[in-house]
Amino acid sequence: MQYVLATHNQHKVAEFGQILSATLPGVSVTGYDGPEPVESGVSFAENALIKARVAAQHTGLPSLADDSGLCVDVLAGMPGIFSSRWSGEGATDERNVALVLAQLEDVPDDFRGAEFRCVIAVVDPGADDRSAREFTVEGVWRGRIARQPMGSNGFGYDPVFMPSGVEVSAAQLDPEVKNRASHRARAIQALAQVLASG
Ligand code: IMP
Repeated sequence: MQYVLATHNQHKVAEFGQILSATLPGVSVTGYDGPEPVESGVSFAENALIKARVAAQHTGLPSLADDSGLCVDVLAGMPGIFSSRWSGEGATDERNVALVLAQLEDVPDDFRGAEFRCVIAVVDPGADDRSAREFTVEGVWRGRIARQPMGSNGFGYDPVFMPSGVEVSAAQLDPEVKNRASHRARAIQALAQVLASG
């Protein structure tokens, strides 16, 4: 079974392929070079579905897409779907991180809980069963927001995200350790379980 992943990011294609094929030996994942839709949804699931539907329409093949971001408890789940553009026009990882730290400046340690969330949408135009034609799975990685950036691995909010159970930031973790524990890895594992049981 071949799945198209709606991304230009080859690292994501490899990560999906490795985790899925470990559970489902016959499955392969390829990248996708088609049109990129406007992510006009108001949730990770809506945006992931928008991307997977376009890829499925374009290729006729079963398609996957993911959408992810940082959700901070005291910011009522924000930046959420706005994670990559939280600091507005010309947003960079550094400016996004600086803005979240400023927003949490007076928030005590016990209230700095946060999580990375990743939703994967599956759109399979050929599925017989209606519930298999479109569905989503989710992965959550809990932690808290540090008081200053630490570490240089990873990307995005990794320097200020301290996963539960460790005293370092995600940007201080070995990339392989992060890739086993992350919200994306958890979502891909959840997907593997659903596909294996179907
Ligand atoms: P995307 O779903 O890969 O486009 O991610 C959207 C945004 O969420 C990124 O630009 C980052 O700001 C944030 N984000 C998602 N996953 C991670 C992660 O693993 N580490 C740090 N930031 C992340």
